[in-house]
Amino acid sequence: MHAQEARRPLRNELAVLMGFDQPYSPVSLKEMKGEIESALKDSGVALEWRIIDKSTSNETFTNLVVARFRGRCVSEPGERPRGAGALGRTHVSDGAILTFPEVDCDQIRNLLYAQLASENRIRGDWLVGRAMGRVLAHELYHILANTGAHARSGLAKAALTPADLLAGSLHFEGKQSAEMRRNALAPPRFAISAAVRSE
Ligand SMILES: [Zn+2]
Repeated sequence: MHAQEARRPLRNELAVLMGFDQPYSPVSLKEMKGEIESALKDSGVALEWRIIDKSTSNETFTNLVVARFRGRCVSEPGERPRGAGALGRTHVSDGAILTFPEVDCDQIRNLLYAQLASENRIRGDWLVGRAMGRVLAHELYHILANTGAHARSGLAKAALTPADLLAGSLHFEGKQSAEMRRNALAPPRFAISAAVRSE
């Protein structure tokens, strides 16, 4: 309790509260966080990660998003992809970008079907986690830059393909990092406390 009270939120801090509606892999989660931290390195945003939990204490954050993960965020192959579904989404209300991004792990597994079918469990979890990271990084761009616009290339382009999710690396272009950096150093848009479990 005291340790949490002593934590002083940074001005450029962004807390990501993660809610999973089905089981997830710790390997995937760790890889996802690393991928996003790498993607946002140039944006000046300092990330704090928490998992939403009912039986927890209160913490205060300077900026916060609540990320919802749909489906099974583990390495098992999904169904063979039929129609393309959204890998992630960020909601917009009255022209404003809302801070409730979603990641659809079932759609990610469907898109990576062929690859996941030929990988062992650990490597599969790692690939799913990296893909989750790229999808959520894309949604965080919309929120941090406060825009629905897309880039021609990199993590902020309109549609991420299996090749994008499996590539050795994928980054934001300089222009998109600059947009996020401008907002990260601006006064906070809101402050909030929430019940969370430390991760
Ligand atoms: Zn987008």
